[in-house]
Amino acid sequence: MAMKEKQFQLNDVVEMKKQHPCGENRWQIIRMGADIRIKCLGCNRSILIPRNEFAKKMKKVIEKAN
Ligand SMILES: [Zn+2]
Repeated sequence: MAMKEKQFQLNDVVEMKKQHPCGENRWQIIRMGADIRIKCLGCNRSILIPRNEFAKKMKKVIEKAN
């Protein structure tokens, strides 16, 4: 079987492989689509990342939305 795809959904809090320049490394998924928008929980800035790139750069889900 192929490597399992990372599971994530809207409102999950995730850790990325690289922290934000503000020093925080907890991000909330605030939009899902072809692109994914994540918001830094340290400074509230958000960034838009193509979904495949997000899947590569995401390290793990810290908190599931539900
Ligand atoms: Zn930040």
